Amino acid sequence: MTARILVVDDIPANVRLLEVRLLAEYFEVLTATNGPDAIETCENGKVDVVLLDVMMPDMDGFEVCRRLKSDPATSHIPVVMITALDQVSDRVRGLEAGADDFLTKPVNDLQLMTRVKSLVRLKSLTDELRLRASTTRNIGIEELLGRNFASEDTTPKVLLIDERKSSVERIQKMLRDRADLDVIGDPHAGFFQAAETSYECVMISTAFADFDPLRLCSQLRSLDRTRFVPIILLAEEGEEDRIIRGLELGINDYLMRPIDQQELTARLRTQVRRKRYNDQLRASVTQTIEMAVTDGLTGLHNRRYLDSHLQTLFDRAVARRRPLSVMITDLDRFKSINDAYGHDGGDDVLREFARRLRKNVRGIDLACRFGGEEFVVVMPDTDGAVAEKVAERIRAEIAQKPFAIGADGKTIEVTVSVGVSSVLKGVDTVAALMKRADLALYEAKSAGRNRVVAKAA
Ligand code: GH3
Ligand code: MG
Ligand code: MG
Repeated sequence: MTARILVVDDIPANVRLLEVRLLAEYFEVLTATNGPDAIETCENGKVDVVLLDVMMPDMDGFEVCRRLKSDPATSHIPVVMITALDQVSDRVRGLEAGADDFLTKPVNDLQLMTRVKSLVRLKSLTDELRLRASTTRNIGIEELLGRNFASEDTTPKVLLIDERKSSVERIQKMLRDRADLDVIGDPHAGFFQAAETSYECVMISTAFADFDPLRLCSQLRSLDRTRFVPIILLAEEGEEDRIIRGLELGINDYLMRPIDQQELTARLRTQVRRKRYNDQLRASVTQTIEMAVTDGLTGLHNRRYLDSHLQTLFDRAVARRRPLSVMITDLDRFKSINDAYGHDGGDDVLREFARRLRKNVRGIDLACRFGGEEFVVVMPDTDGAVAEKVAERIRAEIAQKPFAIGADGKTIEVTVSVGVSSVLKGVDTVAALMKRADLALYEAKSAGRNRVVAKAA
């Protein structure tokens, strides 16, 4: 895992110290000795993580962090604040400024690598989601980022897996009012509990009498439903090796006992905030992809979807020697409906037509709006004779019941012409299949409209 780390400190010796350690782990290192330079570097280059000193003249670390986090161009870059050991209140201020994590001076090697690696991993996930979001056309990334992500107003649902009663009681007390905490002593039961309920963080104690806590971590990481749940390990002094193994397995963070309340709540809050950010980003991407393949007016699939999917259905039919048919429908004299009732009236007809079309095809049929007042239905496992019957049923369904237009109960007669074609045995292609349906449709129009023409196979 290689990444570009920006180290910001007004004292060159401190910069050098961190730089050497990061270089030894094969990170790329950029440096800055004041706030404005750091911000400029973040705006210009690909920075994956910022290590930011709090105490700097002119613009202190809090201000730098606040500015980075309030600019959509840099707000997704993780920031680790480096605070003096005795300045506990700095951590709280840092988190309020939007920092993702903090380290205390003198910076311990294990902690440095843990935080940096965990943030780099998270950043690459976020980058991937941002990239996918920005490559789909319907929603711009700016709009995505403008949404109010990472709300912190609801109490997070957290699972603690720990079999020691005194430890459990202490943590319950520390998290009272800060988390909706479930506790399970048995690690096996804990695993099932984590899989069944959607938690925003799972905390796992390392102190089981007879169970390897890392097994639990790896099980949670390999199960789909828990793959993205943040895991915090509660470790003992001297368990550095175990923590390192845990990090390799994908735990997100750790705390050393005795647990400090402020550190516990801060780390929990950070994990929950990140999870919420990524969950919402993931949901937005899914929604964006859905929007990209859906026709907004009718809710049917759009032409882009048909173009990408028809070939798959065609290949599958050919490979399995199963029939496949398509129909193209085109509303008759639709222009005159628009002329008489306006574009909105025309839209009402299109919506109602789509509704009747969907009602008259099977779930496995693919119904799409091909463009304007043309629709296409792809029917797997359907030969030409059956497809013609389906088309005839749809034609009748449209012609028999008038369409409502506008809100005042007006209705109009609508008819549709349909062309049907089927995959030929021997050599055939998607383009030829569509062409035959289109020719059939043209024949239906020429022969007087309100009819079905099927191209014999
Ligand atoms: P034909 O029977 O030969 O198919 O006649 P037609 O009037 O339906 O044929 P034509 O293809 O010339 O006209 C289609 C019209 O559909 C033209 C266009 O203004 C209208 N149209 C295309 N998309 C939409 C839409 O989204 N909403 C509305 N209301 N009208 C649309
Ligand atoms: Mg047309
Ligand atoms: Mg038409």
